[in-house]
Amino acid sequence: MASPPHPNLELRPLGNTGLKLSCVGFGASPLGSVFGPVSEHDAISSVREAFDLGINFFDTSPYYGGTLSEKMLGKGLKALGVPRNEYIVSTKCGRYVEGFDFSAERVTKSIDESLARLQLDYVDILQCHDIEFGSLDQIVNETIPALQKLREAGKIRFIGITGLPLSVFTYVLDRVPPGTVDVILSYCHYSVNDSTLVDLLPYLKSKGVGVISASPLAMGLLTENGPPEWHPASAELKSACQAAAAFCKAKGKNISKLAMQYSLANKDISSVLVGMNSVRQVKENVYAATELATFGKDQETLSEVEAILSPVKNQTWPSGIQES
Ligand code: NAD
Repeated sequence: MASPPHPNLELRPLGNTGLKLSCVGFGASPLGSVFGPVSEHDAISSVREAFDLGINFFDTSPYYGGTLSEKMLGKGLKALGVPRNEYIVSTKCGRYVEGFDFSAERVTKSIDESLARLQLDYVDILQCHDIEFGSLDQIVNETIPALQKLREAGKIRFIGITGLPLSVFTYVLDRVPPGTVDVILSYCHYSVNDSTLVDLLPYLKSKGVGVISASPLAMGLLTENGPPEWHPASAELKSACQAAAAFCKAKGKNISKLAMQYSLANKDISSVLVGMNSVRQVKENVYAATELATFGKDQETLSEVEAILSPVKNQTWPSGIQES
């Protein structure tokens, strides 16, 4: 793969945190072998490649691969051998392979376990993971206050919430004082096939909340290899994405690059968090960003792909106790 054209990977401010995140963020769920087996060697070299190419933001969770992702990311970061303030790490709490538990007691214990696995003294962002599976009132009244104590103790710097239904963000943010929740992480809602996050961006900006948008490849739907077995999309959505990928391939284009560039083009999104498990994927995704900065979007192919996906535009799937 050729080297990126020129500009360094863009850094973007994250809400009111003062942090500047690389516009491409490293999603570490694949390091938990969530999308297929990943060797320790590949995990460590992917983290190294990412850092060398300007990625400074790494996201994981105790849930990914049943703690394997945190352990692999910890090894990768340690192997960098650079000062701790040169990279930004987020992990999560409340979701575990054993199930959901957003109690103050569990999340307080959870951060110590995560820090041990990550081999770190603090994380930059701790996020309540997939809050639609818990009681949102517990998140507001119990979980977030527990995270505020962790912030005071210096174990975390900023507080975030994640989930699939966009309504969970407004529910929580309307009920906490400004500055309590610093960041939201939304996934599968700012992609070529589903861009519903765009409607929420002015509200989030007005609250001073930083926006991380994850899964620009719709958790594998927008890749030539297609999604993993467990992907929750309908058969209709899967087949439309497969048709779009095949169309791009026949045209000599790469659907994943197109999808990355679509998500990266909106600068109100601080970081586009893409899951990566190889040096090749890291190079491709960073190249997508630097190429976009230099040459702009491939509008012709994008319009063609949007037309293929129009029957399933903004189609999502149920998630959480209210929706299942
Ligand atoms: P994604 O859309 O980023 O897709 C990841 C898949 O695409 C993996 O199989 C990866 O190997 C593959 N891929 C990556 N780059 C590619 C390329 N250039 N060409 C072809 N295939 C490529 O989905 P994701 O990994 O689920 O999301 C990204 C990250 O966001 C996660 O790793 C995680 O850190 C975070 N995330 C958080 C939540 C949450 O908090 N609820 C939900 C989803 C994702």
